[in-house]
Amino acid sequence: STMLEVSGLSHRYGTGDQAHTAVNELSFTVEAGQLACIVGPSGCGKSTLLRAIAGLLPPTSGTVSLHGDRVDGVPDDLAVVFQDYSRSLFPWLTVAKNVEFPLRWGKLSKAERRAQAASALDAVGLSGVGGKFPWQLSGGMQQRVSIARALASRPALLIMDEPFASVDAQTRFELEDLLRRVQAQQGTTVLLVTHDIDESVYLGDRVLVLSKSPARIVADLPVGLPASRD
Ligand code: ADP
Ligand code: ADP
Repeated sequence: STMLEVSGLSHRYGTGDQAHTAVNELSFTVEAGQLACIVGPSGCGKSTLLRAIAGLLPPTSGTVSLHGDRVDGVPDDLAVVFQDYSRSLFPWLTVAKNVEFPLRWGKLSKAERRAQAASALDAVGLSGVGGKFPWQLSGGMQQRVSIARALASRPALLIMDEPFASVDAQTRFELEDLLRRVQAQQGTTVLLVTHDIDESVYLGDRVLVLSKSPARIVADLPVGLPASRD
């Protein structure tokens, strides 16, 4: 079934002479459980597109639907992971409290929130560090915590904007494998932007290739999973 439907989506920055159309009339769908990667040249509008889908920027025109329901404003069934892990975690909260944080707006009891956060930390291999603070962890581990926090709310759609661009190559490989494993286990639908074609082909079930600005979808490729990186 279709999880995400983006239809004629545009976003324009500024007004009048300063107006700049960063995303122009893009349409595509993502099936439930799919890990779809978006690649394209720098400046073609990838971040703007993700932010508009996530409700962080108002679309100038077009619509976004999640499992058939049109999204108006901030979708409650969606989680976002950005490149900049160092600014995405609350420094005054422990790792466990960071992961639990988005659950406080749901209907869960305190005990259920705690259990769900613990299971998300476990899924990313960090069950031992719940009591530490983010700044006590390496960059790669902090980004793991961000992924755990995104997964803890069991989102219908996980949006990731260059999530591994700020970590070293070895950590990136680990995090890519981790994401693939957890995504397959939990059946999460993921839309991930990267400028790294290699990463998109390794990670994705599907790669959408955007052209230079104003971006059009120039290819929509099914890609298989290799047995291993070596
Ligand atoms: P990337 O290529 O990694 O997506 P960009 O250089 O396009 O990064 O943008 C980096 C940051 O600067 C983004 O947060 C973006 O919103 C902001 N930015 C980019 N271009 C402009 C601009 N013309 N005016 C204001 N902010 C901008
Ligand atoms: P990408 O993520 O593909 O690098 P972006 O979505 O960051 O592209 O940017 C698309 C275009 O919009 C670029 O030309 C960029 O300079 C411009 N842009 C991005 N953020 C802003 C902003 N806050 N204000 C004005 N222009 C922006």
